[in-house]
Amino acid sequence: MRKDLWQRAEYVFHAALERPPESRKAFLAEACGKDLELRTEVGILLTQDEQAGSFLEKPVLADMPETSMVGQTVSHFRIVEKLGKGGMGIVYKAEDARLNRTVALKFLPEEICRDPLVLERFRREAEAASALNHSNICTIYDIDEHDGRLFMAMEFLEGQTLKQRIAGKRIETEQIINLAIQIADALDVAHSRGVIHRDIKPANIFITSRGQAKVLDFGLAKLVPARETASGQPGESKITTEANEQDLTILGSAVGTPAYMSPEQALGKELDTRTDLFSFGVVIYETATGVTPFRGESSTATLDAIIHSAPMAPSKINPDLPDRLELIINRALEKDRNCRYQNASDIGTDLQQLKQDLVSHRSAGREAAKSTKWIRTLSYCFRNRIRRPRAKTGCHPGRQGMG
Ligand code: ATP
Ligand code: MG
Repeated sequence: MRKDLWQRAEYVFHAALERPPESRKAFLAEACGKDLELRTEVGILLTQDEQAGSFLEKPVLADMPETSMVGQTVSHFRIVEKLGKGGMGIVYKAEDARLNRTVALKFLPEEICRDPLVLERFRREAEAASALNHSNICTIYDIDEHDGRLFMAMEFLEGQTLKQRIAGKRIETEQIINLAIQIADALDVAHSRGVIHRDIKPANIFITSRGQAKVLDFGLAKLVPARETASGQPGESKITTEANEQDLTILGSAVGTPAYMSPEQALGKELDTRTDLFSFGVVIYETATGVTPFRGESSTATLDAIIHSAPMAPSKINPDLPDRLELIINRALEKDRNCRYQNASDIGTDLQQLKQDLVSHRSAGREAAKSTKWIRTLSYCFRNRIRRPRAKTGCHPGRQGMG
């Protein structure tokens, strides 16, 4: 970085730090004016400062003492077992006595329910996700409160998360493509309704035991007016809420998971639907190679790699990766969002075409193998002076009398 730019960035950064977080964005706009370079650098410094405070590495629940709710009855749900714990909630399996079905309940701990910001995030998760109705999105049934604790009832899924499925090992190409097509479809539907996920990562993608992909946790989703989506196409319906008007994130406190963040997210910029397409690219890369494309010793180093470094070509890690899948990954991972895929449906179409071509390529290969086998059979018959078999397939030439 140029020395003068660095000095100015440092000056504005320190000045911004002296202001309360909610007024930093406005301060930055004023202090940097049209100087985008300066604004970007200060944005990086603020994000890194926030990361240093381990905001992203430390889930909201990390230090919370946890009382198990197994065996309790909450509203008409009988809690059966704990399924897991994430940054924003504890998930239990439960029986819905009213509708006689199994559900998953995501609870916020009591302590957390006192924090209006976290509450808002939770309500938003339910609101955004329940507005979406798609076979590849986990269905939200309800949101309720029990003894001052908010919980969300959702579709109970059997299977494993994509994170558990990958576990450091790459997935077979055909399965990657099948899963990616489903995820692209889920994103397409969400985006067309003005919903950005903002935290697409393998832990938020479930693979059911029947092989269906389900996107979980639109928890960090921001409801944007449809006209703000990358495509510029008006969505099917506009979803507006009170919370819609004020982004809960501030510049420099990016929400998401570092390794899967888009460059614009890492920089704390205003987001549009294309941020999910970058994160989706990271997910496809990881399924194809077993590792994430941008890695660092710390969150700061990871974010720095996302913003500045080119990832290792996935085919260097997985030589069996089809060239076209690599091109799809590369296009999703473009740092400049204008050069990236602009819509989830475009990635979906490319993946579908690739799938079809691989299928026809395979069946062409099978046909070619059949003809080769037939030619070998004929030459065998000729060499051994035996009668040529009649059937074109399933030929097992035995010694027959010469005709
Ligand atoms: P984050 O808070 O960043 O999303 P996370 O995804 O790891 O973190 P949760 O979303 O709270 O955490 O989920 C915790 C675990 O609960 C998941 O890893 C998954 O195994 C399980 N789980 C979540 N939702 C469901 C569901 N609908 N059906 C079955 N299991 C679920
Ligand atoms: Mg999750």
